[in-house]
Amino acid sequence: PNYFGAGPALLPTNVLEEAAADLLNYQSLGVGVGEMSHRSSQATDIINETKENFNKILNIPDTHEVFFAQGGGTGGFAAVVYNMLASFAQKTGKKGKVDYFITGAWSQKASEEAERLGADVNIVADARKFNNGKYGVIPAKSEWKFSDPSETAYVYYCDNETVAGVEFAEVPEVPEGVELVADMSSNILSKELDVSKFGLIFGGAQKNIGIAGVSFYVIKKSLLDRLPQKEANALGIQVCPIFLDFPSIVKNNSAYNTVSILCIHIINLVLKNLLAKGGLSAQESLSKRKAQKVYSILDQNPALFNLPVDKSARSNMNIVFTINGEGNEEKFLKGSSARGLSGLKGHRSVGGIRVSNYNAVTEESIDKLIEFVKDFIKEASV
Ligand code: PLP
Repeated sequence: PNYFGAGPALLPTNVLEEAAADLLNYQSLGVGVGEMSHRSSQATDIINETKENFNKILNIPDTHEVFFAQGGGTGGFAAVVYNMLASFAQKTGKKGKVDYFITGAWSQKASEEAERLGADVNIVADARKFNNGKYGVIPAKSEWKFSDPSETAYVYYCDNETVAGVEFAEVPEVPEGVELVADMSSNILSKELDVSKFGLIFGGAQKNIGIAGVSFYVIKKSLLDRLPQKEANALGIQVCPIFLDFPSIVKNNSAYNTVSILCIHIINLVLKNLLAKGGLSAQESLSKRKAQKVYSILDQNPALFNLPVDKSARSNMNIVFTINGEGNEEKFLKGSSARGLSGLKGHRSVGGIRVSNYNAVTEESIDKLIEFVKDFIKEASV
């Protein structure tokens, strides 16, 4: 399929075929991968192998630990607050402040969740202040206002803003000793990453790495040492629901409660598939090349296409634009759909068109889209 939806998104066809067979009958057991106990030896093997492949593909150092949980990306917004504040309190005896970059709807939501859970939120920079009230830029470093590092439990950012189409070109540099937390729901596995820079990386699986129903976490192990919940609560830190309590999840090898073994198995199949195709360096070149093809054809036609995101902050995963001329966007959507190209409608909050260029979107699909755009340009009047 030539599907460009933002999520849940496509997975490689060979991965889905294997998953479908395993859903019916896993390893000839006569039981499907979604039917067996999350504590069975087969399930434990799946969890362990998925963690190993995660470690391999991201070159995760021994200082960090991979685990899986439920609650999606949004569950992560909350889990980050409870757990990171309690880790900081263990180290310092203080509640700590939390610093958020706001570069799009998802980091905005994450910061609102932190506030709702009683965290003392400082906004490092709000991109809207530097772009006429709209998302579309990463504020310049000179505008970043961090809290006092000795008071800061963590700095949070969203590496790729799925709705705004804004991606950090580089991991932001934070004050020495402060933990960095990243939401990578929509761009994990699209590029190489130096995991050692992070206290925590998390995301929902349903874009580049799997299907909805599980989220991934990569945490610095030292952060699992944290103040007991009662003592943390006495400092004004909210008590964490147990299913999002990182040390409890890790202690139980991601199976504290009934985690979806099917979802984790699919992550493993995606990881194995990507490793066989050359891993992250190969994927990074492919992602960039595919994205560049789309940006290039749009840039060549500025009378027709508006690209609201500053070039320095353009996402390789979600390419957003609007089309000038009455009725042209509907024509674009209808015309593309007639050619078997789907999932192109922009997010309901911003409208326009969004081309999601996740790992499973093939270069052939991108080429078909480009052919359509060329024909559309010929026929469109502004
Ligand atoms: N973060 C990002 C970057 C997202 O794109 C999304 C969803 O699209 C979320 C968080 C929220 O994820 P979930 O719907 O799994 O809660």
